[in-house]
Amino acid sequence: MFGRVERFHCPRRAEVGALPGGVFWTRKSDKPADSYAERHGLIGQQRGCTYCGSLPPDDFMRLVRDGAVLSATHKNYKVYVTAPVRAKFYFQHLSEAQRREFFELYTAHHLQFEEGVGFSPLPFFIKRGGATS
Ligand SMILES: [Zn+2]
Repeated sequence: MFGRVERFHCPRRAEVGALPGGVFWTRKSDKPADSYAERHGLIGQQRGCTYCGSLPPDDFMRLVRDGAVLSATHKNYKVYVTAPVRAKFYFQHLSEAQRREFFELYTAHHLQFEEGVGFSPLPFFIKRGGATS
């Protein structure tokens, strides 16, 4: 990385029509403005998306692989990490490859849930009975 900040369009901008094809998309918005920055996290996490506060997806996947404890929500697009760190993650930030890996970890029962309470509803990219979307 050598100090260069990676810029991107937060995928959650789609919710307000601020991605290509959306009503609030302009030529000016063509230049990615979002990044993962210190102190942009929600609930005390170290880094977050400057637009929505989500934990960076690489950090999230590393935590999940390492057996972090998740706390499911009633939303199909977000989850909390409760241990060993506290963080909020929005699934829109996962790449296709990360969605596939997350799905594999889920079906392999690798995910650790607080008090054993799993997803309900499932993350939006996981279809009951099978594949990722
Ligand atoms: Zn974001």
